[in-house]
Amino acid sequence: MENLEKNLFIKGRKIMGIEQLLILIKPDGIKKSLTGNILTKLSESRMVIIGAKAVKVSRDLAEVHYCHLKDKPFFNELLDYIQGKIYGEPWDRVLAFVYQGEDAVLRMRKIAGATNPEEADQVSIRGSYGRITTKGVYENVIHCSLDTSEAAREIKLWFKPGEIVKEIYPVKKIIVE
Ligand code: ADP
Repeated sequence: MENLEKNLFIKGRKIMGIEQLLILIKPDGIKKSLTGNILTKLSESRMVIIGAKAVKVSRDLAEVHYCHLKDKPFFNELLDYIQGKIYGEPWDRVLAFVYQGEDAVLRMRKIAGATNPEEADQVSIRGSYGRITTKGVYENVIHCSLDTSEAAREIKLWFKPGEIVKEIYPVKKIIVE
């Protein structure tokens, strides 16, 4: 994460605002066979993937990831949801990605859509594929880091340093003259 939000220089040109963020395709996205559709929509951002893996989410990981919501009435249902408990095998997992690119967080949040799928833009991922369960949890098929400090915390939580591609080449591809 050393390069996060740092100005980068390549061949004397200054590259601003290169960010990284965590994307999760949640268990409902996997269960509904939406992985391909979601990745296609995310690819419109022209960001690069620098980390990717499938994760069976432990209770501990779920609790730490969503620690900011621990006092919410839907917290336990939310943990069950991100762990895929309501779906069971083989849907009880998430696909985790680290994306990198210019203004990555803001641009990906726009593609992901609002938290409440019923309020999300119809063309966004959450607006297209999300729903609210009978228990009131927003099943919105994707997690997308809220801001760069949350992104830094989440990437550290979900990925070991060796699991993230370190090369600088993705940055070169998005140089704006
Ligand atoms: P986001 O995922 O957009 O960053 P939050 O961190 O606030 O939003 O919420 C985490 C997840 O908890 C949401 O993606 C959604 O699945 C669920 N959630 C958030 N707020 C509510 C709510 N008011 N009612 C039900 N589920 C919610």
